[in-house]
Amino acid sequence: PRSGFCRSNSTFYSKRKPISLAKNDSLDVTTFISSRAHHGKVAFIDAGTGRQLTFSELWRAVDSVATCLSDMGIRKGHVVLLLSPNSIYFPVVCLSVMSLGAIITTTNPLNTAAEIGKQIADSKPVLGFTIPQLLPKLAGSTIPIVLLDDHAISNAGQAKIVTTLHQMMKTEPSGSRVRDRVNQDDTATLLYSSGTTGASKGVVSSHRNLIAMVQTVLNRFSLQEEERFICTVPMFHIYGLVAFATGLLASGSTVIVLSKFEMHDMLSTIEKYRATYLPLVPPILVAMVNAADQIRKKYDLSSLHSALSGGAPLSKEVTEGFLDKYPTVKILQGYGLTESTGIGASTDSLEESRKYGTAGMLSPSMEAKIVDPDSGKALTVNRTGELWLRGPSIMKGYFSNPEATASTLDSEGWLKTGDICYIDDDGFIFVVDRLKELIKYKGYQVPPAELEALLLTHPEILDAAVIPFPDKEVGQFPMAYVVRKAGCNLSETAVMDFVARQVAPYKRIRKVAFVAAIPKNPSGKILRKDLIKLATSKL
Ligand code: AMP
Repeated sequence: PRSGFCRSNSTFYSKRKPISLAKNDSLDVTTFISSRAHHGKVAFIDAGTGRQLTFSELWRAVDSVATCLSDMGIRKGHVVLLLSPNSIYFPVVCLSVMSLGAIITTTNPLNTAAEIGKQIADSKPVLGFTIPQLLPKLAGSTIPIVLLDDHAISNAGQAKIVTTLHQMMKTEPSGSRVRDRVNQDDTATLLYSSGTTGASKGVVSSHRNLIAMVQTVLNRFSLQEEERFICTVPMFHIYGLVAFATGLLASGSTVIVLSKFEMHDMLSTIEKYRATYLPLVPPILVAMVNAADQIRKKYDLSSLHSALSGGAPLSKEVTEGFLDKYPTVKILQGYGLTESTGIGASTDSLEESRKYGTAGMLSPSMEAKIVDPDSGKALTVNRTGELWLRGPSIMKGYFSNPEATASTLDSEGWLKTGDICYIDDDGFIFVVDRLKELIKYKGYQVPPAELEALLLTHPEILDAAVIPFPDKEVGQFPMAYVVRKAGCNLSETAVMDFVARQVAPYKRIRKVAFVAAIPKNPSGKILRKDLIKLATSKL
């Protein structure tokens, strides 16, 4: 098989063993995963309550919920919203919706009602699943709701609530339910990402994309059924969705679910359940390195053999620090985008991770180009340019947004990642910068365009630009450059408070500078690189 760099077409081919794509056109991801039997084993454990779901219970629940959804009229192509923190029932909802050919759209529970409202207006779900505590965030919408809670229906008192997931799970699965034929090219998920520019857009991933990613996960880790994963990364994000709501289920591993990240809860759960794998985002690894001495004294982490880092860059210092403080734990890297339906590159062994700073080698069956952003020419090894990816997990496009799709996916199927990278002689990818506007705060996406639009609604602000400001603990946070209107003396705190009142906490502006004008090119595009240079010149 081809592998490495091919000079004739300037393409890098994956060195990993290719995945064998399922040939059968008529196949949905739920059927693909459930065909691998791990019946008696425990699939999920809720770390908070100790409640468990075996694989047999999981698949029966998926069947029951799919039957109910079908009886409710949910059909292929309908969008279903899932607004929930991590839970052992999150995968049940995703898998049953997708088994009918309906589309799951997830959203960050930290988002405000207005932010969620925008996603609802764009994706037009016909049904929503949520928990009672998050109901107020759906107050402005009329979609019928299913509660992911055992005993909430009696006191919820809301007309919009149609049933609970637990009622659905008690239903006898019926073979006679209306089941549209689902093809691999049909849409399975609609996760939101701002891509290279502008506001959040729906990323259309197909069953084929997800099936390829399940195979990538299986191929990437030589997983034993005995593995026990800690799930604290969010399931609403592609990282958590691919790992915990689809990919790992095919491996028969057990997943211990924490509803949210809290350091003590995570560490004591590892100890209690003798967890072996710990997928994280870099800020948590940073915190684990900083507090390593206390952590090692207080918790028995001897069961852990691997930590996975993904979602944002992991520095050489943190990798070295982690390996030094936790010498029995391997650290593995994963690089990917919502638009690549998950992992585009990864390191698979400690030896590979010792290529400090690498984002890993191309995933199986993935191809790459490094393209000079100015000339559009594809470059050779060790040259820096924009990373383009092509492969079976690359999204179909952005939902109802042909312009954004056309500027991100070219006619040959290459995804422009917006990441500035080089690929070395051995095929390792290094992410050195970001061409796109995106800010990543603790691995969460913060689209600057959204914050700029909000700042411009302030009566005393004439112009504004938002950029990423580097930070050791959180990765990056949003910083605003603001031009005040003549005669106004708006303070930095006033700007921060104005934004904080209207956005999810992870999107808050944490630094403000006032300038006379925002630097722009002749066509009016903000020269972000100039502002980033200005902001970081004193560091
Ligand atoms: P998202 O769609 O939220 O997963 O964000 C994707 C973006 O996160 C990528 O385009 C990168 O900019 C960044 N990213 C994800 N994983 C890594 C990684 N391992 N190293 C560096 N950047 C990463």
